[in-house]
Amino acid sequence: MPKLIIIGGGPAGYTAATYAGRADLKPLVFEGAQYGGQLMTTTDVENFPGFPKGIMGPQLMEEVRAQAKRFGADVVAEDVTAVDLTVRPFKVTVGKREETADALIISTGAGHKKLGIPSEEKLWGKGVSACATCDAFFFKEKHVTVVGGGDSAMEEAMFIARFASRVTVLVRSDKLRASKIMGDRAMKNPKITFEWNVEVAEILGDAKVTGVTLKDTVSGETRELACDGLFLAIGLVPNVSLFKGQIELNDRGYIVTKPGTTETSVKGVFAGGDVADWKYRQAITAAGTGCAAALDAQHYLEGMEAGE
Ligand code: NDP
Repeated sequence: MPKLIIIGGGPAGYTAATYAGRADLKPLVFEGAQYGGQLMTTTDVENFPGFPKGIMGPQLMEEVRAQAKRFGADVVAEDVTAVDLTVRPFKVTVGKREETADALIISTGAGHKKLGIPSEEKLWGKGVSACATCDAFFFKEKHVTVVGGGDSAMEEAMFIARFASRVTVLVRSDKLRASKIMGDRAMKNPKITFEWNVEVAEILGDAKVTGVTLKDTVSGETRELACDGLFLAIGLVPNVSLFKGQIELNDRGYIVTKPGTTETSVKGVFAGGDVADWKYRQAITAAGTGCAAALDAQHYLEGMEAGE
């Protein structure tokens, strides 16, 4: 039987696995050591259809994962270390283990974007974080800054405000990118204030964060703001390092798919979810393109079996 491998275990990967499993393709899924994707570090998901009262992100992923397993997907909690798309069948390496695949679905998702300043690396885990659900607890009665003006920043700020005494959101322009409902909620929170037109030029501190140097994006002036922690919520970068140089990426670094399909520039390789979607980036759209990738892969493999 032609073999299908799915790389990535988020909403796209598990949905692809469910559809491929139900088509009797017995997919092998490398979900990654930290499976589940971005929803594993989210709290309430209020906009996934079918859950009118909302559902916790990690619980939703456990359910989707269990659904994939129910239909025969072989789900492996390991990270793929290399991929060779120049050979047929494709080669997928996971540490010392080597697998081959006639068709491949890439659903490796996206990760947190960073500021790219040296002090960020130095103080990572010492007051700098990109996961409020993981780390907000450590900032009880502290002053915390959150960088970003999107829905993630609003969500992070509101979650941190449950613990911290004060949260300052640092926005680089004079307006939010967040949806109105999320922006309004954050603005109504008495613990949350906003600083507009500011960029983080430096994070201050040696053993732990003591403050930030802010640069005014209009006047160029700099000033210091004392704080105990800094959370990044400035968007995402696609996880494409395994495929660079082997597959076409767009100018934002996301995998290019042929319009109306999940086909990539390499025949037999399909992409679904955030790794190929810079625009919508929702769990439900990831699940949708994961489904489409499984259907496209199924037709491709059927054609292969028929000798086309
Ligand atoms: P977004 O791309 O929507 O927003 C990123 C924010 O970070 C923008 O305000 C952007 O500013 C700012 N930013 C980017 N780079 C920098 C930088 N170097 N320094 C300072 N600020 C910077 O990303 P999100 O992660 O917020 O959201 C991603 C997607 O997930 C969206 O579609 C969002 O709707 C969705 N989401 C939905 C949630 C929900 O519905 N519950 C919760 C969280 C996310 P600028 O605007 O100037 O570019």
